[in-house]
Amino acid sequence: MGPRDAAQEKGVEPGQGPSGTARPGSDVRRRVPRTDVLLREPRLAEAARLLGAPVVKAAVREAQERARAGRVAPQDVAGAALALLPDTACGLRPVINATGVLLHTNLGRAPLSDAARRAVAGAAGPTDVELDLDTGVRARRGRTALRALADRVPAAGAVHVVNNGAAALVLAATALAAGREIVVSRGEMVEIGDGFRLPDLLVSTGARLREVGTTNRTTAADYAAVVGPDTAFVLKVHPSNFRITGFTRAAEVRELTGLGVPVVVDIGSGLLGPHPLLPDEPDATTQLRAGAALVTASGDKLLGGPQCGLLLGEENLVRALARHPLARALRVDKLTLAALEATLTGPPTPTAAALTADPTVLCERADRLAASLAADGIDARAVDSAATVGGGGAPGVTLPSAALSLPEPFAALLRAGRVPVVGRLEAGRCLLDLRSVPPEDDVRLAGAVRAAAHG
Ligand SMILES: *Cc1c(COP(=O)(O)O)cnc(C)c1O
Repeated sequence: MGPRDAAQEKGVEPGQGPSGTARPGSDVRRRVPRTDVLLREPRLAEAARLLGAPVVKAAVREAQERARAGRVAPQDVAGAALALLPDTACGLRPVINATGVLLHTNLGRAPLSDAARRAVAGAAGPTDVELDLDTGVRARRGRTALRALADRVPAAGAVHVVNNGAAALVLAATALAAGREIVVSRGEMVEIGDGFRLPDLLVSTGARLREVGTTNRTTAADYAAVVGPDTAFVLKVHPSNFRITGFTRAAEVRELTGLGVPVVVDIGSGLLGPHPLLPDEPDATTQLRAGAALVTASGDKLLGGPQCGLLLGEENLVRALARHPLARALRVDKLTLAALEATLTGPPTPTAAALTADPTVLCERADRLAASLAADGIDARAVDSAATVGGGGAPGVTLPSAALSLPEPFAALLRAGRVPVVGRLEAGRCLLDLRSVPPEDDVRLAGAVRAAAHG
């Protein structure tokens, strides 16, 4: 129902609001530009090229309605329509991650580096992803990305990339263990999130799970006792989203390499080498040097790249996986290959920068933001905070951080803003943790808080 219909239904003259307040006269309504005229306006025509005509038409109609209701001046209708338009032709909204969880699964895990974003944009059109431009003949798909990965992990005889970490495990289980046994510790039967459980995933491939040990303690002897002719491989899974502490024991990879079957290690987080700040987080190089035949990992956790699954290990094994028919169904697209290569060869990722950010600098940023917002009459304070890695990496590790503390209602207001900001609630306050916010976003963050405060 338009405002005019509403007025008529209440028996009010179209020139008056329901309470008798002045409403724009019919002359004002006649001065509202016509749809076809607005759609020819250069900025709206360009928007239609970038976003599609239907979304622009809908914004124009809404802006016209507002003008007829007297809420927009007739000469401002085009501007009002532009302001209503989304930035992109997709429903995914860019947000500022101020949760303090560096790899937030609900926010798409690792943010891509500028290098990776450029690489994605560059690969969006036709590319030589599977063609050798020198010879004009077909070439290995994604060879430069695969070489970049191999270069970063010399301990791997070969590498392959699939759609995500779960796909890497499924490919390994299908190609190596369908109809046979995978030996795994009861302490490593992990649910990765949203109800997905790795044991279910492995069994879905036709492999059988042979559980050994107990929830808290599994020894190398437990594995040795069950490994036999039907064993396809021993699987070690990093408990990447929980910790078992106290009376615990787990077998190391090097204790399991003499059992006569491959040891496959799902490290989860995608660290290619040891990280000084995360001493308990397993990395591909160390696991391979310890004798793992195959390592699987995600690309969008601590590696800081796009969603993908990494397979690194003995050449014959990795080649067999890459040639398996299922590999075709799990292959990554050119955009992923582009982003992965740029992540591997480019400057430090936003994830790496957030992980190593100096707490003193984070405090200075929080102080500066709080002072500038408080000067505007906003109840903003700088507080100490504890950030986490999240996203299936470094459970239990907290990273000293600093946050902007705001009244609780800001949480919903900030999520609803033009640039949505996602914070976290703590003790009745809305905290915006700066460790997960790149410093270059501080200005946008302050703008979003001001917009939320002043409606
Ligand atoms: C995250 C994770 C997975 C799943 O990886 P996706 O890339 O989300 O498919 C599997 N295993 C471990 C140990 C993980 O941490």
